[in-house]
Amino acid sequence: MTTTIIEATGPRAFASRDRLERAALLGAPVRWPRPSLLAAPLELGPKAAEAAAGLGLSTVGDLLEHLPRARREARSIDALQPGETATVVAEVRAIAGRPVRRRGMRPLVEATVSDDTATMKVTFFNQPWLVDRYRPGTRLVLHGKYAGRASFRVSHHAVTEEAVAGHGEVSHYAASVGLSSTQILALMAGARDRLDEVVEPLPGRLRAGERLADRPGALAAVHFAELPAEAEAGRRRLAFEELFLTQLALLHRRARRRADATATSLGDEPWLTGRWLAGGLPFELTGDQRAAIETIGGELAGARPMQRLLMGEVGSGKTVIALYAMLRAAEHGRQAVLMAPTETLAEQHFAAIQRLIGAENVTLGLLTGSTPAARRADILAKLGSGELALAVGTHALIEPGVAFAGLAVAVVDEQHRFGVRQRAALDAKAPAGLVPHVLHMTATPIPRTLALCQHGDLDQTRLRELPRGRRPIDTHLISGERERARAYERIREELRGGRQAFVVCPLVEEAEEPGAGSWGRAASLAEARAATVEFERLAAGEFADFRVVLLHGQMHHRDKQAAMAAFAGGEADILVASSVVEVGIDVPNASVMVVENAERFGISQLHQLRGRVGRGEHPSLCLLFGPKSSPRLRALVDHADGFALAEIDLALRREGELIGTRQSGISQFRTARLPEDGELLERARGWAERVIAADPDLSAPEHALLALALAAALGEEADRPIAA
Ligand code: ADP
Ligand code: MG
Repeated sequence: MTTTIIEATGPRAFASRDRLERAALLGAPVRWPRPSLLAAPLELGPKAAEAAAGLGLSTVGDLLEHLPRARREARSIDALQPGETATVVAEVRAIAGRPVRRRGMRPLVEATVSDDTATMKVTFFNQPWLVDRYRPGTRLVLHGKYAGRASFRVSHHAVTEEAVAGHGEVSHYAASVGLSSTQILALMAGARDRLDEVVEPLPGRLRAGERLADRPGALAAVHFAELPAEAEAGRRRLAFEELFLTQLALLHRRARRRADATATSLGDEPWLTGRWLAGGLPFELTGDQRAAIETIGGELAGARPMQRLLMGEVGSGKTVIALYAMLRAAEHGRQAVLMAPTETLAEQHFAAIQRLIGAENVTLGLLTGSTPAARRADILAKLGSGELALAVGTHALIEPGVAFAGLAVAVVDEQHRFGVRQRAALDAKAPAGLVPHVLHMTATPIPRTLALCQHGDLDQTRLRELPRGRRPIDTHLISGERERARAYERIREELRGGRQAFVVCPLVEEAEEPGAGSWGRAASLAEARAATVEFERLAAGEFADFRVVLLHGQMHHRDKQAAMAAFAGGEADILVASSVVEVGIDVPNASVMVVENAERFGISQLHQLRGRVGRGEHPSLCLLFGPKSSPRLRALVDHADGFALAEIDLALRREGELIGTRQSGISQFRTARLPEDGELLERARGWAERVIAADPDLSAPEHALLALALAAALGEEADRPIAA
């Protein structure tokens, strides 16, 4: 590491070595950028131009927005260490070709180059024409390896007029065969003056408040700063802008809906819900549930359409909140629907809501694709007349033939499974000129940073607190044969006490290369094999004294049903399954979840598997068989809260991504990095909220450039109001 010494005297221009003199500052002329100059084409030879176009670079503006991917060491010649790969800038003193003995190899080119500090010999391979191109006096930027004894082997090179590399670091760019990172570096240095033409979209008040550099300064820092801290400050400035624009777009769309649409205000005396909450519930609400009900009640009382996302894991008690919102409509003589993505879910909701309504006299119907014709006709008639206050169902609820007398509230379960069209269809079911209040629900806990990006146009409520009586599941990480034997003994104890156990087996063999379409089936077959082998092993060995059944995706439908029924009915003690148990099986008597090769599953999958136990009154166990070193498995042992696990999952995925092993699908940003930039995101969100509150259309003069940047960054998307 070499360090750069900054002169301690007086202020320095950001990301530059120039000192700022007071007189110069006072005499600085006022200057406006001319962004049209950024549209000038890059001056390149035909081959380099083609390579540049391949990278999306055709104008000077494109070039300046081509941000570095990493940073490389920059050195003065005298500071080069033997064996080190670095970038230097030096002037050619002498240059000559040297023949090579080996056949098929082109002559080497050797040059003597020097900078202010020293002189060295550099070698270019396979490019004899350089002798004519790099005449003495040419300034070069050279990237390569220093072999020691004043000898440097060049891998990339370009002519430069500018001092691109000092004594710290230089940028490294995404490049292609015809245009190296080093060449881009030289081009960038040549275009540096054009940074003055870059427009600043952020309002001055925001920049001052956040102490952010201006856009040209940030780009200069990202491209040219020698100090990592300065480059990072520049990156954060650009990341802030990116996050801010995204949040602005989301909030702008929300504001549009709020301005354009009206909902029925449900603000009368809660004669029904008051009574129901006070005495009609079979349990006491958790603090989170009470807070959610209060927030939602307040929103429903207004004419501004509610658009809220209720997040809570399976079992966190979302249904009672959904029903509260629906009953608010009913007590005003209006209607409410709950729409679920599948018939099974709709039926489950219907049953749960019936139970929760208890003794209250409220009409409720179920409408799905398989509702018989006569029943359907009856329900449609009653929805049309208003006789039916509440309806639960699937997409069948928003089909064209369905009309409501006065739809005021809609609950959408697993909202990500419905498209924009379906949400718009729901809107259209409200009386003319009105839209429903909408409560979205999801059981997928996602980290707050992602929630702000993915659902930033919705208000959000989280249920973190599990309902009283729910016991945390005791989770253990089991490695090695001794621990395994002890774990089996512990399971047998549970079984002898009358409890039941799941054993889940993932695919163990490495799946073959995914051939088109066949991979899913191959994996499913392999998983079935793994589960079958384990089933046979356990039934004949560890659990020979117990009743063991097998369940996997390759079994006949009838056999699957039989296995599930045997386990649910208590006739089987152990269910050995491939990962299919992940979906809908509710066995309150099961108190043990065993996961084989647990490291093969993701955090959220494991957390969901674990949620299969702990549903009854018995204390439950989750035994994860896997390596002690796995941070994901450790996270499950240490945390019960799905939201906390989602945060950890995201952080671990990011790490995986940095070392290039795993894909997370969250890198939608150019400069922002989540979750690391989470705090930046929160601040950007805060500013976006303030700006939109003061100027929802961004029509104020100080927001003109912001509106342009928003349109440029997000296109039409930025201007479309959201549905439901
Ligand atoms: P979710 O829809 O979020 O998965 P549910 O609303 O179905 O969860 O609730 C899960 C179970 O917990 C249901 O049996 C419900 O009646 C019960 N429940 C909900 N809230 C509470 C509470 N505050 N105290 C005790 N049990 C509750
Ligand atoms: Mg539910």
